[in-house]
Amino acid sequence: MNLYDSDREILLNPTGWLNDTIMNAAQEMLKKQFPNLSGLQDVALGLVVNFRIPGREFLQILHSPINHWVTVSTIDVQNPNTIKLFDSKFAAVTTSLKTQIAALLCTNNETIQVNVVDSHSQVKYKFCYSSFNILCTQMGSCDCGLFAIAYAVAVAFGKDPEVCIFNQEMMRKHLFHCFTEGILTPFPGRASNSATNTLGESIDVHCYCRMPEFKDIPMIECTNCLKWFHYVCCENVSEECMDSSDIEWFCCNCL
Ligand SMILES: [Zn+2]
Ligand SMILES: [Zn+2]
Repeated sequence: MNLYDSDREILLNPTGWLNDTIMNAAQEMLKKQFPNLSGLQDVALGLVVNFRIPGREFLQILHSPINHWVTVSTIDVQNPNTIKLFDSKFAAVTTSLKTQIAALLCTNNETIQVNVVDSHSQVKYKFCYSSFNILCTQMGSCDCGLFAIAYAVAVAFGKDPEVCIFNQEMMRKHLFHCFTEGILTPFPGRASNSATNTLGESIDVHCYCRMPEFKDIPMIECTNCLKWFHYVCCENVSEECMDSSDIEWFCCNCL
């Protein structure tokens, strides 16, 4: 696998944040090794909501603003409207992630269940303070890309990342070695005695487009089915309809 010298430098720099070229290169390698695996699309497609709808079981690395990488998977997830989110630094399912997940699942269900596998407690961050107590470097805070790839590799190899504690110090070297050899192997780690924290989050999806609510896009409720639709997704909405809730409006399914 050919990486540019600049990408190799990022990979070997302890505070190097893995860019989309590296993340896509890792996904490409996995795809070659597991041709039947669905997903693993260009990470940039997610940000412009341009994913192709993958097969029922898929694996995908996602970019979550700002500068964070996570992995999602529906492999071995029984419920069709449920997805697992592997996050090394979980804070919230961001609007961007909600949109990307909704685009991948494209479900007629009202909600998507997100099972967040949060390995935050396992990830080590070393803080380095200057003499004025100002944070100058943050070792480990740029490791989310390494974890995202490690989760993806584990899932592809049929291992459960929920019960694995990765050896964080070895991750960069391991990935570099994988790129050199042109083959991804499971990241070094050990089995955990207890399962990682799993949090349940949900995404409400609406409209013909099966997407969540967006901050700046008004929505309108159908008088008959009481479902909500994005204004921009509907052709038959007059301005009066938007301004007044007293005016009846029917979605295409109820007309
Ligand atoms: Zn819509
Ligand atoms: Zn309706």
